Amino acid sequence: MFKKCPCCKHSWSTREEFLSDPLVKIIGYQVNFAHLEAGVFLFNHLPSQCHTTISLNVECFSDLYDGEIFQERLEGLKECPGYCLQRANLKDCPAKCECNYVRKVIQLILKHPKTHHHHPASHPH
Ligand SMILES: [Zn+2]
Repeated sequence: MFKKCPCCKHSWSTREEFLSDPLVKIIGYQVNFAHLEAGVFLFNHLPSQCHTTISLNVECFSDLYDGEIFQERLEGLKECPGYCLQRANLKDCPAKCECNYVRKVIQLILKHPKTHHHHPASHPH
């Protein structure tokens, strides 16, 4: 099992199933500057009877990104827009900073295709 919702106990057997679930939405990122992989992504489980926050470590998703990882840390410097300090900020970051790759992972999570639930009434054909 990949993850169980702490509130409604719904479980996702794989990461793919979790990311493609239209009822799961990433809402935040809590940085851990000392150990970036131990940072936390916050997801909302959208069904109105649940609506709880599910947290998962960055390390559960970091292999989604296979691009460049910068060596330098720029946090607090003028190149750094400080996005990582804003929990609800999910924007990509222009700084060539080691922390940047986590925000690339966020973009991949945001863009991940969602499974469309079949609603026969809403499709004309
Ligand atoms: Zn739930």
